[in-house]
Amino acid sequence: MFLLSRTIVLCSLVAATALSCISAVPQTANTRNVILVMSDGVRWQEVFRGADETLLTPKNYWDSRPVETLKKDFLASTPEARRAQLFPFLWGTVATRGRLYGDLDEGSDAHVTNPYNFSYPGYSETLTGHADVNINSNDNKPNPNITVFEWLNQQPSLHGKAAAFGAWEVFTGIFNAARCGFPVNVSYDPLVLTPSTSAIDLLNDQKANAPRVWPDEAFDAPIFSTALEYLKLKQPRVMFLSLGETDDWAHGGNYGEYLLSAHRVDADLAKLWSTLQSLPQYRDNTTLIFLTDHGRGSSAESWKNHGQKIPESKNIFIGLLGPGVQPAGLEKNTAPVTQSQVAATIAKLLGFDWNAREPLAGKPLDLGR
Ligand SMILES: [Zn+2]
Repeated sequence: MFLLSRTIVLCSLVAATALSCISAVPQTANTRNVILVMSDGVRWQEVFRGADETLLTPKNYWDSRPVETLKKDFLASTPEARRAQLFPFLWGTVATRGRLYGDLDEGSDAHVTNPYNFSYPGYSETLTGHADVNINSNDNKPNPNITVFEWLNQQPSLHGKAAAFGAWEVFTGIFNAARCGFPVNVSYDPLVLTPSTSAIDLLNDQKANAPRVWPDEAFDAPIFSTALEYLKLKQPRVMFLSLGETDDWAHGGNYGEYLLSAHRVDADLAKLWSTLQSLPQYRDNTTLIFLTDHGRGSSAESWKNHGQKIPESKNIFIGLLGPGVQPAGLEKNTAPVTQSQVAATIAKLLGFDWNAREPLAGKPLDLGR
C-alpha cells in the first residue's frame, strides 16, 4: 500500500518526469536523509585490529617524539579492545546497531573494483558506482561521469538538498562542481553563504589563516565543523563529507598522527550522529555510511602507501547505521562487497534506482530492509 501510494504521488507531481517514475523504488524503512562520510586511506587493519604495536614507534611519530601516551591510549591487550579504543563510536554504535563490512580476518571482504587503489578513482567509484579506467590520476579534472549526488539533486523531491564538503581540493573535479548544481566546498576555500553566520565566518578565517602543511588539503577540523554547521543551517537530505588527514599523515610515515587523526574522525562521526538525533529533520530517519577510498600496504614499510603496485591496498571497509540498515553487526563469512555498490545503496535508501540510470553501477548492498 505504502509503495503504491508513494509511486502515485511521485508520478502525480507536476515536476516529476517519466524517468523519475521509472526510477522510483521503495524508500528503505523511512530513510529520508543519507550522510556519506569518507576518511582517506584508512586501513581495514586498524579498523578491525586496532593500532599496530610494531608501527607505533618514536621514529614513526614525529621522528623522536615519545609514544608512551599513544601506547597507553591505543594498545590494549586484545584486538577487540584496541579497535574499540581507536574507534569507540564505530565499535560501540555502528557495529552494534548497524553493519560493518571488510574484516578479512573474519571472512568479510570489502574492496574497490578500480585497478588503481588511489583517491580520485576510489571516490569516483564510490560516487558513480563504477570504475572508469580513464580516471587514472589524481589531477583535478572535471569528472565526465555523473555522480549519484548530481542525479539525486535533479530529482524534484531532492532538488537543492545535496551538498558536499571535502578536505581535498580535488572534490571540485570529482563532483564536477561546475556542472553538478549543488555546493561543493573544499580545502581552504571559504564557504560563502548569503547571509553568512558568525560561526561560518570564523571557520572561513581559520581555513584562510592556518598553516598549509599540504597545499591541496586543509586540516580536517575546520572541514568537519563547516559541514556540521551547514547541516544545521540548510538541512541537506544527501550530504557528503571527506576528511583527509589519515592519508596525509600515513604518507608522511607518521603512524602516531595517523592514529590520532583516525581517532578524531571517529569522534566526528559520534558528534555528527548525536547532532542528527537532536534535530527533528534527521532524528530516526537518517542513514550514515562510512568508508574509505582505498586501503594501504600491509608491511612495515608499505603501510605508508597504496596504489597499483600494492595490491592489498584495494581492501577497504564499509560501515552503515540508520533506519535503512537492519542491525547485523560485524559481517562474518559473507560474500564480498565492493565500493561500487555504495552509490546504488545511497539511491535505494532514498527511494531511487541508480542502476536504472547508470547500468554500470554495482547493485545496492543487501541491508536486510
Ligand atoms: Zn594517498
